[in-house]
Amino acid sequence: MRPNTPREKIDEVLKEVQRLGYDPRPIFGSEQTIIAAIGDERTHHTLESLTVFADVEKVMPVQKRYKLVSRESHPANSVINVDGVPVGGPKFCVMAGPCSVESADQLLTTARAVKAAGATILRGGAYKPRTSPYEFQGLGREGLRLLQEAKDETGLKIITEVLSERHVEHVAQTADILQVGARNAQNFQLLIECAKSGKPVLLKRGLCERIDEWLLAAEYILAHGNPNVLFCERGIRTFETYTRNTLDLAAVAIIKKESHLPVIIDPSQGCGRADLVRALCCGAAAMGADGLLIEVHPNPAEALSDGQQQLDFQGFSQLMAQLHPLLAVTERCI
Ligand code: PEP
Ligand code: MN
Repeated sequence: MRPNTPREKIDEVLKEVQRLGYDPRPIFGSEQTIIAAIGDERTHHTLESLTVFADVEKVMPVQKRYKLVSRESHPANSVINVDGVPVGGPKFCVMAGPCSVESADQLLTTARAVKAAGATILRGGAYKPRTSPYEFQGLGREGLRLLQEAKDETGLKIITEVLSERHVEHVAQTADILQVGARNAQNFQLLIECAKSGKPVLLKRGLCERIDEWLLAAEYILAHGNPNVLFCERGIRTFETYTRNTLDLAAVAIIKKESHLPVIIDPSQGCGRADLVRALCCGAAAMGADGLLIEVHPNPAEALSDGQQQLDFQGFSQLMAQLHPLLAVTERCI
C-alpha cells in the first residue's frame, strides 16, 4: 500500500484479496503496510486487478510466474529422453541437417554425412515458415516420408518443424522432437497441441521475445502435462545488420539459472552466415549449452532455403572435430 494509507482503505483491499480467493495477511509498518496474499495463482484469479485501488502502490508476485519450468521447482538438470537419446546430461547433443528437406538424395546424403561426423539427431523442415508466399514452402507430407526413410536407414532421430495445430498429429508420427519455430513461439494453442502429443518439444525463442515470455511459453507445455521441453536460442532482432539475427549467448547462462530444462543453440538462424557458425558453436559449447541445431547441406549454393548459412559436409566435420577438445574441458562429450 502507499505510505500512510488510512486503515479503512487498507480494509477495503483486504476484503478484495479475500474475495479473489486468497488469504490476506497484512504486515503493518510504521509508514507502509504490505499485504501478503496466500494462495495459488494457477487456481485463483490474478491479483493484478488490485492496482485499480488508488492506494495500492504495487502488486508483486513472490513466486516465479513460470513455476514448473523454474529451477526452484526442480533443482537438478532435467535430462530429456528423445527416443533413447538423452539431451541435457553429460552428452552434448548435435542435431544437424538441411534447412529444408528437398529430395531423397539431398536428405539421405546429408543424413549419412552428419551421422558419420557424430550427430545423433537429423534436422530438416518439411513445413517451412517462409517470409514470402512465393518462396519454397517445403515438401509437406512427402518431406516427412523422406525423413522417415532417412531415420529407418541411419537410425538418427528426427527433429522437424510443426507449423500448425492441424499438423501436430501427422508430424508427430515421424518426428522424435517437434520443433516450434520462432514465428510460432507464442502460438499458445499450437504449444498446447504439441504438449498433448507427448513428444519432446524444441521451443525456439521468438524474433522479439523476452526471456520471461519464452519461459512462460514453455510453462504452457509443462502445464499441459508434457515435461519434455528443450529451449532453443536462435538469435533475436536487434539494430545490428552484419548478422541476420543477434545470437544471445547470455540466454544460455540465464536459462540455466532460471530453469532445469536443456538449452540448445541454433547458430545457423542465429547469425545467418556460414562463416560465423563455427565460432558461435564453440561459444555455445563453452557457455554450457546442451547441444546445437546446425544447418548442413550437400551444396549450400543450391539450397532452396537459407543457402547462405548452411555448412557443407566438410565444414560440418571440421566443426565437430573442433568441438571435441572444447567439450572435454567442460567435462562433456559428443
Ligand atoms: C529453421 O530452423 O529452419 C527455422 C525456420 O527456424 P526459426 O524458426 O528459428 O526461424
Ligand atoms: Mn533455416
